[in-house]
Amino acid sequence: MTPLSPPTDEAPPAGDDATDEERIFRPRRALPTDVVRPTRAEVNLSHLRHNLHVLRGASALGPGQAKPKIWAVLKADAYGHGAKAVARTLERAGVDGICVALVEEGVELREAGITAPILVMGGYYGSAFRELLHHELTPVLHEVAQIEELARIVRSRDAGPVCAHLKVDTGMARLGAPPSEWEHLARTLSAHPQLIFEGLMTHFANADLARADVLDEPLALFERARETFRAHGLVPRLLHAANSAALLRGGADFDVVRPGIALFGVDPLPAVAPGETAFVPVEITAKLRPVMSVHSKIVALRELFPGDHVGYGSTWTAVRTSRVATVPMGYADGLSRALSNRGTLLVHGARAPIVGVVSMDMTMIDVTDIPQVSLGDDVVLLGSQKWPTERGPGAQAGESGAVTAREIAAASGTIPWEVLTNISRRVPRFYREP
Ligand SMILES: *Cc1c(COP(=O)(O)O)cnc(C)c1O
Repeated sequence: MTPLSPPTDEAPPAGDDATDEERIFRPRRALPTDVVRPTRAEVNLSHLRHNLHVLRGASALGPGQAKPKIWAVLKADAYGHGAKAVARTLERAGVDGICVALVEEGVELREAGITAPILVMGGYYGSAFRELLHHELTPVLHEVAQIEELARIVRSRDAGPVCAHLKVDTGMARLGAPPSEWEHLARTLSAHPQLIFEGLMTHFANADLARADVLDEPLALFERARETFRAHGLVPRLLHAANSAALLRGGADFDVVRPGIALFGVDPLPAVAPGETAFVPVEITAKLRPVMSVHSKIVALRELFPGDHVGYGSTWTAVRTSRVATVPMGYADGLSRALSNRGTLLVHGARAPIVGVVSMDMTMIDVTDIPQVSLGDDVVLLGSQKWPTERGPGAQAGESGAVTAREIAAASGTIPWEVLTNISRRVPRFYREP
């Protein structure tokens, strides 16, 4: 017996359709029904659909060409948003395919009933090719040995050929095959009719750099890869290269685009300095709406006097009579410790600075300048906050009433991708369908 209510959003128990040879992979996250603490992430599914629509409009349309298909990148639990709910929403909204990093992530989506094509991009399969095929996941291969191993397993299954994508390296030096191996890869692939060459892909190292020519060299290399395969009579049905930044810049759309972060409402391109022109019309990026927000409540409130300290190591000292509030979210929840004495949270629509070090489960904020604050008030850690009452003197004119993932990333020395994926499993996700 388990003391908690059964996780209704989770996959069915093992045994339902598991075969002898199939292992079950089951990630687990806190569910809204299991939590007492007021800290939660809200995932706005209508913003997600909106962003899909914006990206459809943004992808380039060559003369006489069809629009590229959108394969949403939902690795790492859909960038922390909850892969199952996000995949269901996007599938209903007509997304063409889904990309994940791990076999486990693909299995999770299949068990949730997702039927769209799922591409496993992480390139590591260990001994899980059988699980991969059982769940109709499409692998991305980058080595001759993988082609041979997968072909051997397909032969032994006696069930017809399967689709695979090949990945070539165009400057990332991560997983794709380097140019010196393309010839060997092409020869191996043409010798293995068990595999259907469905896709040829690459991934850009620098699509989000503020330089006009960053895609020139990788695109030329990608074209060379395509010719190498074509010389062996191998023409993939789908070419794809663009992540969010490349999609927004244009010029690398091909047959499929693979946006991740932009679907979640974050502009991946660098901020435009005054006087500079943006690579991408701001009309497009400004339309993206943040999908995740993170909320909590004030659980303790105290008055401090000059000379009093806050938190581990006493790194903050009151210089005036101050009101300090405690918020039950810490670095174990994904509120980076790098925000200690640096970040701000929203209370009553105004910014309250984090004081002292962020601890594992709790963070303190200085609310002295927002005098109406009381116990139980809502706090926003990521996202916007509307507050109907008068703002305190802490709310300066021009304040946005929003904390963005980009801003948190800048304050904590990281990138918005990490800010989103850091929101940990302990924080339950609530889905909103306004
Ligand atoms: C993560 C990833 C993407 C999506 O990147 P974003 O910058 O989030 O759009 C696309 N392709 C590959 C291979 C990736 O690993």
